[in-house]
Amino acid sequence: SAGQGDLAPEIWEKVKNHPCYSEEAHHHYARMHVAVAPACNIQCNYCNRKYDCANESRPGVVSEKLTPEQAAKKVLAVASTIPQMTVLGIAGPGDPLANPEKTFKTFQLISETAPDIKLCLSTNGLALPDHVDTIKAFNVDHVTITINMVDPDIGAEIYPWVFFNHKRYTGRDAAKILTERQLQGLEMLTERGILCKVNSVMIPGVNDAHLVEVNKAVKSRGAFLHNIMPLISAPEHGTVFGLNGQRGPTAQELKALQDSCEGEMNMMRHCRQCRADAVGLLGEDRSAEFTTEKIMTMD
Ligand code: SF4
Ligand code: SF4
Repeated sequence: SAGQGDLAPEIWEKVKNHPCYSEEAHHHYARMHVAVAPACNIQCNYCNRKYDCANESRPGVVSEKLTPEQAAKKVLAVASTIPQMTVLGIAGPGDPLANPEKTFKTFQLISETAPDIKLCLSTNGLALPDHVDTIKAFNVDHVTITINMVDPDIGAEIYPWVFFNHKRYTGRDAAKILTERQLQGLEMLTERGILCKVNSVMIPGVNDAHLVEVNKAVKSRGAFLHNIMPLISAPEHGTVFGLNGQRGPTAQELKALQDSCEGEMNMMRHCRQCRADAVGLLGEDRSAEFTTEKIMTMD
């Protein structure tokens, strides 16, 4: 796990108060998500768009979508109620960078009204190279990229299509574009001193053996933490994988893979795959206290 002992001092200084990155901090500091980003630019076989982006969030959950203005109001309301609120993340319900106007408008409003709150975002990485300079300009110092493969043949089993440069690509072509953009975006961020975590969804029989190679590829490009998450695949979620009967890994399989990557870099093991509109300490969900209806009547 990401204890101080595993991390370089300058990185520890940046992440020790971040509830998602430090196992210690996740008991003392709170984070919140605002669901301002509805569109997505790729399709993952484990995603059903009726629900939140499954790359950073718990599958099968529907968040209440907010406008940037509603989101900014909600952040202020939460920050005045939960003093440990230190981090605001945008992680969905689609891909934040497939909705750049909404995502960056939200960051702009929050940086004007609550400049102490740290900003982070989570992305599939397809649009990342186009937005690295804006991310830097808004002082976003934590970005999560979901990288499930670095081999387009494996990617073709995970991603039926990507939408890139006004065109839909499928199969191996789609996966090749995605992996190139993800790794380029990761390099561009780390070159600029922006902390990058990589999430990977472990899909037995598809990318499980391959994730050791992903681990090496992201480590060599400067990712500071790798979070390998189990596929949560249920037929009632209506995803391609769920309907195909694709199973998730067992706890033992997940641990064995995390152990085999541990020598390479810091592994994150306390992730709870929270909701895209999560509010509160990790493992705690106070989102029901802050519905749009309630926020709009708060002063
Ligand atoms: Fe779904 Fe997220 Fe994949 Fe887009 S990136 S298809 S929202 S899991
Ligand atoms: Fe934590 Fe990820 Fe949310 Fe950022 S986007 S607050 S890292 S769960």
